[in-house]
Amino acid sequence: MLVKIFILFLGGMALIGLIGKWLFPGAIRRAVTKRMSLAKPSRCAECGRYLIGQGGCDCGKKG
Ligand SMILES: [Zn+2]
Repeated sequence: MLVKIFILFLGGMALIGLIGKWLFPGAIRRAVTKRMSLAKPSRCAECGRYLIGQGGCDCGKKG
């Protein structure tokens, strides 16, 4: 009886995951990339400062 409930629970979780993936294909990837970017922030290759946004660093712009 307990095993049946456990299997049903697992199946439901898998189904929810599949439906979520199906409905929002970009959301999970976006969340993962956001977490990755937080774990490893992008830094300037020239001066080593943390980059804010996608514009690049000021040291490269000024040349
Ligand atoms: Zn820089």
